[in-house]
Amino acid sequence: MTTTRKVLIVEDERDLAELVALNLERAGFDTTLAHDGREALAAAARSRPDLILLDVMLPELSGTEVAKRLRLDPSTADVPIIMLTAKAEEADEVIGLASGADDYVTKPFSLRVLLARIETVLRRADPDRDQRSTLNAGPIELRTDTHRVLVSGTEVHLTLTEFRLLATLIEGAGAVLGRKELMRRAIGPGVRVTPRTIDVHMTALRKKLGDAGRLIETVRGVGYRLDAAATADAAADAAEG
Ligand code: CA
Repeated sequence: MTTTRKVLIVEDERDLAELVALNLERAGFDTTLAHDGREALAAAARSRPDLILLDVMLPELSGTEVAKRLRLDPSTADVPIIMLTAKAEEADEVIGLASGADDYVTKPFSLRVLLARIETVLRRADPDRDQRSTLNAGPIELRTDTHRVLVSGTEVHLTLTEFRLLATLIEGAGAVLGRKELMRRAIGPGVRVTPRTIDVHMTALRKKLGDAGRLIETVRGVGYRLDAAATADAAADAAEG
């Protein structure tokens, strides 16, 4: 439904580069690593990243020089750049932004903060993307790109099957979905499960969604549907916004 976003990580401290890569991958990004300025330019041209994390102090070419060159090349001119700076490089932060970077994060940084900044910069760079990758129903927000589910802004952790069931119900926009149909779409063809399995997953899903779980209605003898009014309201909100 959506493509995975690619982040190019340019950092000569290999342990840090790998730690950042690991955490970004966990958050649903694809990552590419480069360890010096020249490698960064080559990787940016080759892998066409959606965002570049760029350390300032790099061998071969400095981060600021890399940023300037990326901006001059039409194929990379629009790629958002977040500079990674050390405390001692405060002057470079300013230079970094003057060189065309979109934001900077000062080392040492928390990975949670870094992820939040990445999301913010990406959203700014492509405001339509949220619309494409988010399914809404009442207080439920399901992000298909990062596989996260929020209820009234609070993250809820679902299993893959629960996530797919919920996505299928929201996409159904109030239509009644039979257990067989739900199994096919949420578990996949060729896996032998009984209709009862769907009921078990649904019970767990409703519980995890808390109050919002009531939006999932059981249609006796047929299957399930997501409360149509809730999905219609969400659609109306999206149309107004
Ligand atoms: Ca460095």
